[in-house]
Amino acid sequence: MADHVVIVGGGQAAAQAAASLRSEGHAGAITIIGEEIHPPYQRPPLSKKYLSGELAEDRLFIKPPEFYEASGIGLKLGVTATAIDRSGKRVATPKGDVAYDRLILATGSHVRRLNLKGSSLANVFYLRSIADVDLIRPHFEKGKHLVIIGAGYIGLEVAAVAATRGLKVSVVEIASRCLARVTSPVISSFFDGVHRKAGVHFHYDARLEIFEGHDRVEDVLVNGEKLNADFVIAGIGILPSDHLARDAGLTVENGIVVDEFGRTSDPDIYAAGDCTVHFNPFAGRKVRLESVQNAIDQAKIVAAAITGKPKSYAEVPWFWSDQYDLKLQTAGLFSPTDQVVLRGDPATAKFAAFYLRDGVLAAVDAINAAPEFMMGKLLIAKGARLDPARLADPAIPMKNVAT
Ligand SMILES: Cc1cc2nc3c(=O)[nH]c(=O)nc-3n(C[C@H](O)[C@H](O)[C@H](O)COP(=O)(O)OP(=O)(O)OC[C@H]3O[C@@H](n4cnc5c(N)ncnc54)[C@H](O)[C@@H]3O)c2cc1C
Repeated sequence: MADHVVIVGGGQAAAQAAASLRSEGHAGAITIIGEEIHPPYQRPPLSKKYLSGELAEDRLFIKPPEFYEASGIGLKLGVTATAIDRSGKRVATPKGDVAYDRLILATGSHVRRLNLKGSSLANVFYLRSIADVDLIRPHFEKGKHLVIIGAGYIGLEVAAVAATRGLKVSVVEIASRCLARVTSPVISSFFDGVHRKAGVHFHYDARLEIFEGHDRVEDVLVNGEKLNADFVIAGIGILPSDHLARDAGLTVENGIVVDEFGRTSDPDIYAAGDCTVHFNPFAGRKVRLESVQNAIDQAKIVAAAITGKPKSYAEVPWFWSDQYDLKLQTAGLFSPTDQVVLRGDPATAKFAAFYLRDGVLAAVDAINAAPEFMMGKLLIAKGARLDPARLADPAIPMKNVAT
């Protein structure tokens, strides 16, 4: 009889792994165990069009619910896997054990929480799931003051939706600029300007001291200054959900360590998506990626390996963010020591920042500039050595910059 593949986690990677197992010809049973009550859904719209109310819940689903039944994929939703018995090849859940031949861990990540006086008060929110947004949305009323903790992608996307809806928005950030962890000062400064123009207030180098209030936060104390708040949303990063793997004795280093085939330190257990750490040839080091691209591509690699057609994972990392009418598309992984080459003028809101490492293209941030993103991604994959002057010259079409 063909193997039973059990997938723990009901998100982007789980849905892709199940679908790819079937399309690669896996004939045995497939079971997804997911702790959320929804079938696998896309998270990116949660801080964009689902938060703004422009997208209905059923548009978030990665596959229509009928797909799973039609494809013979069992969905155990609202069920948390609590332990893995590797010698008995069983996953424990409160609803009974599930036996597996191969196991895929696609447990994703969970939000980092604030640990300050008052941070557990009722109007302090996080944004990771449909359930989180459903709690937040009723507070999105014109004129209310939203304090956002963290000026990363999630914080800025929420700020854009809130400012567009007429809320007063303050963003509190521990670093000296927005998006400091992921991009260059020129891109940070561009987004800072866009948000300020929309009325968003930034508090950088912020020492967040305390949330004051009785049953709800009324004031946020930042650098000794009191910010009156109607509600707070924290977007201060995520942590890999790797505890099942760690408890089962798999190798875990700030994420479940996988090889280029998505295999963990147990040959019958694979992992994909946010919960993993892998050696990335483009970064030249082990990385943990938090992106749809990685969840999908790693899940495909895992399905290929399980169905006996192993392929190495060697995709250029890419990501996007939507804020106002701007689309930021990023390929590769920026490093602070990279040489920054600008193409186009930030004042036009259509430009790109390219990052050269020892003359070789390592990453690109493209704003409303799809050709720069697409060509940039290809050139990163090729390890192209580029002349900064040609790259910066908008008169030379992107397809010719490398020649
Ligand atoms: C608000 C938001 C906006 C984003 N925007 C973008 C974007 O614009 N572009 C982009 O590329 N990426 C974006 N991302 C990141 C992207 O959504 C994630 O990288 C992607 O969802 C990762 O997929 P995953 O399957 O690894 O994990 P997840 O989607 O997190 O799914 C993991 C699932 O496993 C479940 N689970 C965990 N432990 C257990 C257990 N023990 N038992 C059962 N189930 C379990 C979790 O509840 C969850 O449902 C965004 C993320 C968020 C939250």
